[in-house]
Amino acid sequence: MLRIRGGKVYDPANGVSGVVRDVCVAGGKVVADVDPAARTIDATGMVVFPGGVDVHTHIGGAALNFARGLIPEQHRKAQPIFHRPGFRSGIAGTTPTTFATGYVYAGMGWTTANEAAVPALSAKHTHEELRDTPIIDRTCCVLMANNEIVLDLLENEEYERAKQVVAWYVWAAKAYGVKAVNPGGVAGWKWGKDAKGLRDVVPGYKKVTPAKMIAALAQITDELGLPHPVHVHCNNLGAPGNVSTTIETMKLLEGRRAHMAHLQYHAYGGDDWFTMKSAAKEVAEQFNASTNLTCDAGAVLFGNTVTVTADGPWQHLLYQLTGRKWGNLDVENETGCGVVPYVYKEKNLVNAIQWAVGLELLLLIDDPWRVCLTTDHPNGATFWRYPEIVQLLMNADFRKEQLAQFPDKTRSRMVLPELTREYSLNDIAIITSASPARALGLTQKGHLGVGADADVAVYNENPNAAEMFAYPRYVIKSGELIVEEGELRKSLDGRQFAVKPEFDESIEEFLKPQFQQYYTMSFENYPVSCDRVHGLTLQPCAACGK
Ligand SMILES: [Zn+2]
Repeated sequence: MLRIRGGKVYDPANGVSGVVRDVCVAGGKVVADVDPAARTIDATGMVVFPGGVDVHTHIGGAALNFARGLIPEQHRKAQPIFHRPGFRSGIAGTTPTTFATGYVYAGMGWTTANEAAVPALSAKHTHEELRDTPIIDRTCCVLMANNEIVLDLLENEEYERAKQVVAWYVWAAKAYGVKAVNPGGVAGWKWGKDAKGLRDVVPGYKKVTPAKMIAALAQITDELGLPHPVHVHCNNLGAPGNVSTTIETMKLLEGRRAHMAHLQYHAYGGDDWFTMKSAAKEVAEQFNASTNLTCDAGAVLFGNTVTVTADGPWQHLLYQLTGRKWGNLDVENETGCGVVPYVYKEKNLVNAIQWAVGLELLLLIDDPWRVCLTTDHPNGATFWRYPEIVQLLMNADFRKEQLAQFPDKTRSRMVLPELTREYSLNDIAIITSASPARALGLTQKGHLGVGADADVAVYNENPNAAEMFAYPRYVIKSGELIVEEGELRKSLDGRQFAVKPEFDESIEEFLKPQFQQYYTMSFENYPVSCDRVHGLTLQPCAACGK
C-alpha cells in the first residue's frame, strides 16, 4: 500500500489537469484510499503522471539482435549499466540490451511498450528477449502484410479463410495486434522488387495490391475485435514525395480503425532528394479530418543511431545512399528485415527536414488524443531521448534557437518556423501515456482512475523539460516503488499482454500442408506455447469479450 501525497496530478483520461491530490495504490492497482498507516511519499511540488506507454518501439527479437551485432563500434562507446546486486548487467547505447531496455524505460517513468514488428516465425525468439526485458509490461504486433499464405488467399478472393488464418497467426505468435509493413513491398523484395503504387499488383501476383492488403487487414482486425486496430507502416517510407501515398492510404482506411505508424517518415514532399521538403501540413490536414485514425510521430533527433525495419527494399536504398554497413534478413514466407547504422546530421538537408517534420506533425495534429510520442526507436532516435522531444514541444523559443542553426534554404522547406504552439504538461501526459494506452486498447493503462494498473511516474517540476522527464523522482510499477530519489532501486517482472481472437480450429488442417510444402519449420514446432511467454496476460477481445 502506498499514498503519493500532494502532487500535482495530470490524469487527462479522467479530466484531471494539474490538480493537487493524493494517488493511492494497493494490490498493484490505483484505489480510492489506503490505510493511514500506509507508506507515504511526499510529492508536494512535484508532478504526477500515469506511467509512459510506448505505442511503437523495437526492443526485442531477431531484427534487434541482428542490429546489436552489426554495431559493435557503438556498443564500445556505450556505458555499461547496473553492475549492482539485484540487477542484471547490460549496456544502453542506441539499441540497449534486454535487461538495460527494461531498466532504462522504467528509469524514465515509461512502464509499457509495444514491440511493433514480430515475424510469427521468430516470435519464440522475441518472447525470449521480452521475458528478459524487466519491469515494463509489453505487447507485440505480428507482421502480416507480406505473409504469402494471406497474400495467396486474398489473390483468390478467399477473405473469410484469410481472416481465420490471421486470427490463428495472432494467437500462434502470442501477439496483441497486427502490423502491416510496406504491404506487398517486402514480399516483392524477395525478388529484388518493391510495391510503390497502392493500386499496383504485388510482384509475383496477378490481382492482389497493397490497397487490397491494407483494407483487408483493417477489416479483419476490426472483425476479430482486436483491442488495437491494424498498425500500418505505409508504402514508400522515407521517399521524397511519399505524401501522396500516405494521404491515399488514409483515405483508403475511411470507415475503419487504423494506427498510422511513425508518420514523420511518410510526410515528405518534393520529387527527389534535392527537392525534398516537408509535407507535414498536407498529412496533418488529412489526418485531422480522418477521425478514425490514430498515429505516432516517429520523430527524429540528430545523432547516432541504427535503423531497423521489416521494410527490406527501403533499407537497401538507405544503404546505397549512405554507403554504410547494411544487413538484410529474409523471413521465409512472411517478411524480411534490413539494418543500416545511421547518423542524423544537422548539416544534412534531408535530415534537417526529417527532424522538423516529426515536430511539425506533433504540432499540427489538433487532437493530442490521436497522436503518440515515438521515435520509432531506434530508427529516429533512441527511446531514452524522448525527454528532448518533450522540451522541443513545450518550448517554442527553444525550437527557434534550434532552427537558427539552419540556413534559409533549409528553413524554407520546413513548416516549423511558422509554428508557435506549445504543449502543456497535460498535453504531454496525453501523448506519452493516455493516448497510446487508448490507441492500444489497454484500458487499464494510461490513467490514474480507480482500478487502473498502478503505474505512476513522479517528476520534480523543472522549466527544463528535457531534464525533468529524463530523471523522475519516483516511479511506481504495478504498485511497487521501483525508482526512489531518482535512482532505480528495484527490478521486477513485467507482463506480456496477448489476445486470443476466436477462430475455427479446423483452419489448422488448411495450414498444415502449406507448412509442409513451403516452410523449413514443422507446423507442430511453430506456435509459441503459452508456457514460453513470461507473464502472459490475456486482454479481452473487443468483439467477444473473451
Ligand atoms: Zn517501427
